[in-house]
Amino acid sequence: MPLTNLQMRDVETLVHPYTNQATIRETGPLVIERAKGIYVYDVDGKAYIEGMAGLWCTSLGYGNEELAETAYEQMKKLSFTHLFGGKSHDPAIELAEKLKEVAPVPISKVFFVCSGSEANDSQVKMVWYMNNALGRPKKKKIISRIKAYHGVTVAAASLTGLPVNHTDFDLPIANILHASCPHFYRFGQDGETEDEFSTRCARELEELIIKEGPDTVAAFIAEPVMGAGGVLVPPKGYFEKIMAVCDAHDIYMIADEVICGFGRLGEWFGSPVLGYKPHAISIAKALTSAYMPVGAVMIPEIMHEALVSESKKIGTFGHGFTYSGHPVGAAVALKTLEIYQRDKIIQGAAAKAPQFQGHLKALGDHPLVGEARGVGLVGALELVADKTSRKAFDAKAGIGAKAAKFAEDEGVILRSVGDALAFCPPLIITPDEVDDLFARAARALDKTH
Ligand code: PLP
Repeated sequence: MPLTNLQMRDVETLVHPYTNQATIRETGPLVIERAKGIYVYDVDGKAYIEGMAGLWCTSLGYGNEELAETAYEQMKKLSFTHLFGGKSHDPAIELAEKLKEVAPVPISKVFFVCSGSEANDSQVKMVWYMNNALGRPKKKKIISRIKAYHGVTVAAASLTGLPVNHTDFDLPIANILHASCPHFYRFGQDGETEDEFSTRCARELEELIIKEGPDTVAAFIAEPVMGAGGVLVPPKGYFEKIMAVCDAHDIYMIADEVICGFGRLGEWFGSPVLGYKPHAISIAKALTSAYMPVGAVMIPEIMHEALVSESKKIGTFGHGFTYSGHPVGAAVALKTLEIYQRDKIIQGAAAKAPQFQGHLKALGDHPLVGEARGVGLVGALELVADKTSRKAFDAKAGIGAKAAKFAEDEGVILRSVGDALAFCPPLIITPDEVDDLFARAARALDKTH
């Protein structure tokens, strides 16, 4: 199909993030014009179920008047003031208080950012700063995991464990390591139980720490459920074993809750669902249901004490963004959290989870699907060339992308994450809409070849 005028103007002017820069010139983009509830509409008026909540973020769906009003009112009252050098404002203070209240572990302070990448970059810098403050300058290595996704800024992309984020970007930077990925379906060995697999993952982590020298390893970072790496749910007991290793070697644990936070797994945070008790937490995305770009780093007292002691020594904490704690973002985040609580959005997500996971598991019988996995209102179907042997498709086949394209034809937006097709709808999706989402996905799978 020839490109429309709008598509032509697009490919002549935009560099699309996370897009094949060669093929987009021929295919052109899908241009979205408006959205309401769980639906987005393209410029031709075709409706699509947003089966990915945008990018795992639009939990309250689209066109929420309360959030729009909140932003408008805050823009009129105080459109901007920063938090640098001791300035402050009510929405940031209240939001930090609220986040401390809902956090799953004891949190001392909250540092605001604008994205998940900024949150994780800040975590890395803070860990290095803390260990200098604590007089252990050699303890700087940070362990992430193969297939993890933590963002694309230089440190966050280094933490990410996906080749596409490293190759020819000259990443990862020094002091970032990657431990085993806890995906049993792909990495479990013949005859190994899930529990034995978890034990092996923990043992391999410990071997890595010992090889590097425990006095050089500062932190471990993990998403409770890995998102962009393929919606990989670790086996039961995995985090317990991982935490025992980290504790034994005095390793600071970070949870990247950028996707799992705020109800995606059926609880406020994903860490407790998976039995993970981190020291620090990164959040973004559903914090504002994507109505404003806001993220945060939530830190424990030990980190705060380190920041104070460094300030006593060198003065200013030399880190912060112009928009750290932007008042409009903070006001919208507060309203989002209020809606989550008032409208019992998170309990609602938990209540719909069995239906959602039931549909997903049923698609596991499809000849193309090797594994159907998920928890809460997130899941994925691993597409395989051979179900019995678990043989993957040739990477060049781009099977996930093909399935996502057929889904688009059926009026549902899904996302290919490797060879898996991911599902992550707005938490406000109704049971009827869940049925519809999966009916469309099933038709798309039948067409995929
Ligand atoms: N961490 C996780 C777990 C994510 O899924 C993402 C984005 O998908 C990020 C961090 C990066 O967030 P952002 O794209 O807002 O920088």
